[in-house]
Amino acid sequence: MLDFVVIFTKGGVVLWHSNVSGSNFASCINNLIRGVILEERNTEAKYYEEDHLAVQFKLDNELDLVYAAIFQKVIKLNYLDGFLADMQTAFKEKYGDIRLGDDYDFDREYRRVLSAAEEASAKQVKAPKTMRSYNESQKSKKTVASMIQDDKKPVEKRVNIQETPPPSKSQPSSPATASSMDKIIMEKRRKLREKLQPTKKTSPNDSKSSKPEKAGKKPRVWDLSDNAKDAVMLDRSKDSPDDVQYQNINSELVGTMQGVIPDLDVESADEDDNEDASSEGEAEEQVQSKKGKRGGLLSYFKGIVGAKTMSLADLQPALEKMRDHLISKNVASEIAAKLCDSVAASLDGKQMGTFDSIANQVKEALTESLVRILSPKRRIDIIRDALESKRNGRPYTIIFCGVNGVGKSTNLAKICFWLIENDFNVLIAACDTFRAGAVEQLRTHTRHLNALHPAAKHDGRSMVQLYEKGYGKDAAGIAMEAIKFAHDTRVDVVLVDTAGRMQDNEPLMRSLSKLIKVNNPDLVLFVGEALVGNEAVDQLVKFNQSLADYSSNENPHIIDGIVLTKFDTIDDKVGAAISMTYITGQPIVFVGTGQTYADLKAINVNAVVNSLMK
Ligand code: GDP
Repeated sequence: MLDFVVIFTKGGVVLWHSNVSGSNFASCINNLIRGVILEERNTEAKYYEEDHLAVQFKLDNELDLVYAAIFQKVIKLNYLDGFLADMQTAFKEKYGDIRLGDDYDFDREYRRVLSAAEEASAKQVKAPKTMRSYNESQKSKKTVASMIQDDKKPVEKRVNIQETPPPSKSQPSSPATASSMDKIIMEKRRKLREKLQPTKKTSPNDSKSSKPEKAGKKPRVWDLSDNAKDAVMLDRSKDSPDDVQYQNINSELVGTMQGVIPDLDVESADEDDNEDASSEGEAEEQVQSKKGKRGGLLSYFKGIVGAKTMSLADLQPALEKMRDHLISKNVASEIAAKLCDSVAASLDGKQMGTFDSIANQVKEALTESLVRILSPKRRIDIIRDALESKRNGRPYTIIFCGVNGVGKSTNLAKICFWLIENDFNVLIAACDTFRAGAVEQLRTHTRHLNALHPAAKHDGRSMVQLYEKGYGKDAAGIAMEAIKFAHDTRVDVVLVDTAGRMQDNEPLMRSLSKLIKVNNPDLVLFVGEALVGNEAVDQLVKFNQSLADYSSNENPHIIDGIVLTKFDTIDDKVGAAISMTYITGQPIVFVGTGQTYADLKAINVNAVVNSLMK
């Protein structure tokens, strides 16, 4: 049974809480905010304990909110994940799209969601709940627009949970009236009795114990050399969860990344066009395949055929469907609208003709607009600039920043591999002095990269070195020492890894701004996941803003380019690539497409267009 449920912003502003006295739980919630949320510790686990209390919480990165449920530690509640998710959905449904006043009247919804969750949980004991598909989830319905329109965020109300009484509620009764309180206590006791009985029940909270014991990890043999004689044994059972997870690293990668970064692969949409049908069945198949080809976005223009000229009124219904289609691919709504406008402008007044001719015109117009968006304001040519720096006797420096877990270290290592392949020697500066295992992760990469490109094959030059000073030290200072070391020892390129940080964490954003200011790098790259496309846009905008705000320089060094990671995991929801470039005007310099050193690509407009068309 839940003792207290509260919704607050990541900064600690309480928006709503269940209508019982919050003072008993204030210190627990305050400590959760201070020790976990603000410090971004343990937010993966979404679980926190203090004395006899436990808190399960859910982060809403779109609205920057935290949904937390407090309960007695001894009681395990198996419905909390679902309950918190439903709370989030209900709260967003009610307030997500409107500007809020001071009063967040959510009692009725809370009671509805809670009793539904409790009922479902009782049934679940008999029949396990089926997982929601991605399409059914709220996440699939999220659009970039909701991240970038500030007026959609709730108006924050700074209150201290310890000192401020709960906000006035227009809804009457609460779940904690005298009679319901009795029920609550009875229920709690029943659950406690159950808990104290020797046979254990399964619940998500103790899922670890209920899972069958995993067999210990077997040491993996990494084939890192031409003749495999000096293959490295890497016992991954000792790895931290975040440790390097490269699957196919072997000598075959060597030589594959020389020269410019290869473009993202384009899936041809016209593959089946020229096949001849030799039977009726095949002819039918071809019709189907043609339908598929002209399906997706282009199918909305099917009705617009004939001999007359097109007007905007003819196009309007198709354009609206096209806009929704683009939004469903994670394109920000304002950008989707602009893309539709440009297609409309290019079709307006033209002869309708056949469906194929319209489809071609739509595709052309869309491609033209996307080329404009995805073409960078300035060209970033790392190889040329690094060579120039080398000629001037100074190392070329790149700083990588972004939130936790987006792939900073992994993609830094891929970029390092590409640089080595192009005969630059590299110093990796381990400036994530915060996250346990961060330095070791880079050390592992350094070892692997040196094994792929041993000094013996580079005139005795060690191609990668790691500059590290362990944990807890000032990152800006370490970066400075590393750059000086690189300068003194004639290293060509310095790649600076930094600690992951949330875009709203002011102290950490200040320290990143300082790191960039004092070290004056050649390039600041923001690493963002394509996977959480919309959030990445919010992160990027706020990183840029913070770097500008917290730098005392008149001309602050903000983000120069983007590394878009995990592109291999998003299927055809490629909208983040478009939104991130459009909103910031910064180019996508690299696209991470997997977990080997060679899974690094350059953005390719045709690949993006084809994915959008589907
Ligand atoms: P960091 O905390 O930002 O430094 O993130 P890491 O570099 O530790 O990466 C977090 C996880 O993302 C690791 O499991 C990586 O293997 C994985 N990862 C990084 N880049 C990619 C990518 O392009 N594709 C896929 N599928 N996984 C990636």
